[in-house]
Parts: sequence; C-alpha cells; structure tokens
Amino acid sequence: MLKLSHNYISDLIRTAIKSDIRISKHAAIIIDPKRPKWCRVISVSYNSRYNLDNTTRSKLTEKKHYTIHAEVNAINKNKKVIRSNKGLVLCVVKVNSNGELSYSEPCENCKKMCEKYNIKTIYYS
Ligand SMILES: [Zn+2]
Repeated sequence: MLKLSHNYISDLIRTAIKSDIRISKHAAIIIDPKRPKWCRVISVSYNSRYNLDNTTRSKLTEKKHYTIHAEVNAINKNKKVIRSNKGLVLCVVKVNSNGELSYSEPCENCKKMCEKYNIKTIYYS
C-alpha cells in the first residue's frame, strides 16, 4: 500500500498553483509504487485551458469554456509508459483561492480514462 507522503502533497499543491484556471486549480500525479522511490513519479500535471502538449490547441480555442482536467493532462504527458504499466496510482488535489486543499474527486470522464489506462487506485483531496 502506497503511503501518500507529504512530499507528493506539497508537490501537487505547487503544481496546482501553476494552473491557468483561476477558480479551480487542480493537479494530478501518477505514481508507480513498484518502482524505487527516486523514479516513482510517472507524470505530474495540472488543469489548463489548453492541451499542454499543444497538439490540439486550435481545436480547443473554439470552445470558450473548455478546460483539460489535470488527470487527462497527466495521462497525456506520458501515455506510452502509462499504457504499458499496471498498478499505477493517481493522486489528485484541488487548491482553492486561499491556497487550501478542497474536494477533488475525479469526474466521470477522468475516471473512465483512468480505467482505460488501467489506473485503478485513485486518491484525491
Ligand atoms: Zn475530470
């Protein structure tokens, strides 16, 4: 069982603050608990108005209020490795405007995406 160390949580808070979504800053980390500690983190990302790899930017700008969730950005960032691994763990946090953690259960779409990529353990703030 993975213990969610304070390091992961503070990394996630720092990552969430980078989000360009002012009212709802999320961050997600994907961890492989089978790996040694120093290389356990597979991907870290935050929610954004644009796909962070920039490939579909033009498409997204047409939809004014569309945002990419932190979980999706984290999966997209390292798809190949994530696809070829089992037993990965996803942790998601949401930081409110006071910098405090708030409720961040992944939405149904993100849960479905996790299922598709075999991520079965999810922690959230
Ligand atoms: Zn979502």
